[in-house]
Amino acid sequence: MSEPTIFKRIIDGEIPANIVYEDDQCLAFHDVAPQAPVHILVIPKKEIASIEQLTPTDQPLIGHLFSVIQKIARDQGLADDGYRVICNCGAGGGQTVFHLHYHLLGGRTLEWPPG
Ligand code: AMP
Repeated sequence: MSEPTIFKRIIDGEIPANIVYEDDQCLAFHDVAPQAPVHILVIPKKEIASIEQLTPTDQPLIGHLFSVIQKIARDQGLADDGYRVICNCGAGGGQTVFHLHYHLLGGRTLEWPPG
């Protein structure tokens, strides 16, 4: 068995996080190293390593995650000015925690392209 990821340990309550939303399918909490005034991670409770491990059965879950992202963005006051949602996939895509997660960033002007 491989070691649980840091996000699995947050889901299991083994390590603390600044949680902003939780339901039976997902969890959202502030990133420990924020890259914008609002930087929240939205993760499924199901252990899925990355986009590459998604299957068609996960489609309702992914739809739900985006509904939650929309709700959190509105709750955080980001809807009017806009925000960015990022999902890094694989080491070359910048992924460092191999538990699927979406970054919700906002509260400042976000440049494009990213580095
Ligand atoms: P990624 O590079 O896309 O895999 O993103 C992983 C994110 O997890 C980074 O933005 C980290 O700052 C964040 N992170 C790592 N450990 C924690 C933690 N214990 N609590 C909150 N965020 C974390």
